[in-house]
Amino acid sequence: MRNKIVAGNWKMNTIVRDGVALASMINNELKEVELREDVKVIIAPPFTHLTFVSQVVDNKKILLAAQNCATEDAGAYTGEISAEMLKMLGCNAVILGHSERRAYYGETSETLIKKTEQVIKNEMTPIFCCGEMLEQREAGNHFKIVEAQISEALFHLSEEDFAKIVIAYEPVWAIGTGVTASKEQAQEMHAFIRNFVKEKYGDKVAENLTILYGGSVKPNNAKEIFAEPDVDGGLIGGASLKADSFIDIIKAI
Ligand code: PEP
Repeated sequence: MRNKIVAGNWKMNTIVRDGVALASMINNELKEVELREDVKVIIAPPFTHLTFVSQVVDNKKILLAAQNCATEDAGAYTGEISAEMLKMLGCNAVILGHSERRAYYGETSETLIKKTEQVIKNEMTPIFCCGEMLEQREAGNHFKIVEAQISEALFHLSEEDFAKIVIAYEPVWAIGTGVTASKEQAQEMHAFIRNFVKEKYGDKVAENLTILYGGSVKPNNAKEIFAEPDVDGGLIGGASLKADSFIDIIKAI
């Protein structure tokens, strides 16, 4: 059975003091929530918070993710953070290819091939983001775009390594806009992804693949989106910055 995941992407929000307070609040509220075996909760604070946040959360209930990592192992790469450094801080996962990184920092499939390999090599889970822009959907190209993003960056992986990937489908037009994809749109894309993964890697890998939806998920729409058969949870931006709303979204899974 595949894992269900609710992951909070804090982006470049909170200073350490407030981030630690938020993580503590999430941790405390989560104590009251009965989580099913198959449900994982992940938070992805900024790099600077990871050490401190890891000290205030129960790491059996809340896994830690980073929002990015370097393409290389180590060396003269000023300002970069390697996957190994993140692993040593207790990270379990790394978000890769978020649309903000693709749009503002020129992240390409070539970069993502290297980053994915770094994350896998360091025994963490890549949470690989993909998703089309509004113009691409309006032109009817959304399936083609998402298929290209996934196949270019990930289809060189062995079956064993591909099985370690989590996909996050995040239509760019839904991120931070308050406009959520309808449950039908989410389900349609998730089923499409699962199907073309099946063609490449077979039934078992496709069936076990966790595919998250991201884009303006809130407590009031999480339940209906998560109820779709191919939606295995969510990658949550804005609503993960408030303990109450993040917990309500977790309860919706
Ligand atoms: C995100 O950035 O991954 C995201 C889904 O943001 P939001 O929930 O704020 O749309």
